[in-house]
Amino acid sequence: MSARVALRDELASLGRYHSPQSPVEVRLNTNESPYPPPAAWQHAFSDAVRQVGFQRYPDREAKALRAAVGSRHGVEPEEVFCANGSNEVLLCLLLAFGGSGRRALVFEPTYGLHAHVAGLAGMEVVAEPRGADFRVDPVAGAAAIARVEPDVLFLCSPNNPTGRAEDPRTVAALVEGAPGLAVVDEAYGEFTSVSSLTLRDGSAGAEGLVVVRTLSKAWAMAGARLGYLVAHRDVVAGCQAAALPYHLSTQTQLAGVLALRYETEMAERVRAVAAAREELAKGLAELDVDTWPSDANFVLFRPRGRDASALWADLLAAGVLVRDFSSRPGLEGCLRVSVGTPEENERFLELLAGALR
Ligand SMILES: *Cc1c(COP(=O)(O)O)cnc(C)c1O
Repeated sequence: MSARVALRDELASLGRYHSPQSPVEVRLNTNESPYPPPAAWQHAFSDAVRQVGFQRYPDREAKALRAAVGSRHGVEPEEVFCANGSNEVLLCLLLAFGGSGRRALVFEPTYGLHAHVAGLAGMEVVAEPRGADFRVDPVAGAAAIARVEPDVLFLCSPNNPTGRAEDPRTVAALVEGAPGLAVVDEAYGEFTSVSSLTLRDGSAGAEGLVVVRTLSKAWAMAGARLGYLVAHRDVVAGCQAAALPYHLSTQTQLAGVLALRYETEMAERVRAVAAAREELAKGLAELDVDTWPSDANFVLFRPRGRDASALWADLLAAGVLVRDFSSRPGLEGCLRVSVGTPEENERFLELLAGALR
C-alpha cells in the first residue's frame, strides 16, 4: 500500500497480543471458565431477550447494570463504569485519562494488553521488572513510581500470566505513591479473598484508585463481553465521555444484570476450579517442569530440558491448546495452562508426561 496508508506504529505489533484460536478438543489457553453459566441464568436471559424492543437504543447510562454492580461492591452506580469486556473498559479509561505526552507504568511480565491499550491511546509506556518471585518488589516499585511519575500506573493482581496475587501492603503503598491513576486489574479477583476495593475506604491515594473487573473469567461469561471498573465518580464520568454512545447493547446489559443474581453458583464454580487447580499443580509437581504458585485459574510452568515451543506444538497436535509465552521477555521457556475440568486437566497432564518422556 502507499505510504499515505501507513498503519500507526502502535498497531504494528498487534499480532503479538492475540492468542491463537484453534478448533481443538481441549482449550486451556485463554483462562475461560470450563463450565457454562447456570441453566437458570440461560432461561432468565432468553426470556428477557424475548421481551426487548430491539427497535430502541439501549439505556445509554446502563443504569440497572451499574446499580447491580454497585450493590455487589457497596458503591454508588455513579462509581461504576461498564463496557464490552474489561479491555474496552481500559480503552475508554485511557482515551479519557491517557493520550500523547502522558506516561503509563507497567511491571513486566504482566498482561500484555495494558501496555498495548496504553500505546493505542498514544501514551508512552515504561516497563519495569518484577521481583524474583514475579511479585512487584515494594521498594523497587516505589522507586520506579518516583522516577517515572506515571499518569497511569498498572498493577495486575492476581498477575496474568504468572499467577500470584500481590501482597495487599505492596498494592496499598504503590497506590498511595502513584501521582495519577492507579489501575488494579482484578480479572481474577474472585479467586482470591483480597481486593484493592478495600483501599477505597479513606486510604491515601483512594481518589486515583481504579479497580477493574470482568465477567469473562469466574462469572463464565467471556462470550457476553462485559467488564467494569469501580472508581471515583469523576473518573467514571471521564470514561463515559470517552465511550461511544450506546456502546453497551441491551442484551449485554441484561446478561450482566441477570448474571449477578447467580453469585452463589459463581462461588461454587470458583471453589471447583480452585480444587482442580490444586490437583493440576500436584500433577505438574511430579513432572520435569518448574511451576509457580497460582491464586487464579491458570498455572505458569516451564519444561526443563525441553524446548517450550516444540512442546506447545506437540500438545496442540495431540488436541490440547495451552498458551506459549516462551518468547516473552522474562518468561523464556514458559507455557501457561488454564484450569479446565478435572477430565481436561488429566488429559493435559497425561499428554505432557508423554511429551516430556
Ligand atoms: C482475561 C483478562 C481480562 C479480561 O478481559 P475481558 O475484556 O474482560 O474479557 C482482563 N485482564 C486480565 C489481566 C485478564 O487476564
